[in-house]
Amino acid sequence: MEFIAATNNAHKLAEMRRILTALGHGLQSLAEAGLDIDPEETGATFAENALLKARTVCQAAGRPAIADDSGLAVDALNGAPGVHSARFAGAHGDDAANNRKLLALLSGVPADKRTGRFICSIALALPDGRALSAEGQCEGFIGFEEKGAGGFGYDPLFTRGGKSFAEMTAAEKDAVSHRAAALKVFAKRLPAFLAGEQ
Ligand code: IMP
Repeated sequence: MEFIAATNNAHKLAEMRRILTALGHGLQSLAEAGLDIDPEETGATFAENALLKARTVCQAAGRPAIADDSGLAVDALNGAPGVHSARFAGAHGDDAANNRKLLALLSGVPADKRTGRFICSIALALPDGRALSAEGQCEGFIGFEEKGAGGFGYDPLFTRGGKSFAEMTAAEKDAVSHRAAALKVFAKRLPAFLAGEQ
């Protein structure tokens, strides 16, 4: 099935596209769909925000739209930055400032207490008003310094199996990421959902 991606984040778009393509689906960007739109994220949860974004774009396009709302939950910070991950340090999407703030807040926290997880909620909105959601998580540790040049967001600080996400290849990240986990659950549920069984 072909979806419009309800995101202006080029990194998310690229990850969603390569994961969905491997699962047999197509993804069009907002620009490719001729849309200039910045869907609001006013919900209190990842699931609410994903649904809001998918519905906004689906209504504007009159076609199925899929959204990702995601973020990092750090145990030593009681789940912060959570749904505020993109604007943790103030400006939306300032990855460098967000990472500096995270390191500063975790200063003095020992390695075994630096646990956390990425969470991703995926939502599909259809023009008939129906919606399908799925969630995925990825457990890891927050490093003591940024490592690696790949990825985006908190990738240089999020470590798993001795490597940060920013040090992993795309295939290595996709094998374990919250986004891939959510999209796999989503793709598995999709046929029954489209057949009207859920
Ligand atoms: P939103 O879903 O647009 O609200 O923003 C998600 C934010 O969470 C991003 O701006 C990143 O800071 C962070 N994030 C989500 N997924 C990832 C990821 O795969 N790697 C690194 N950071 C991520």
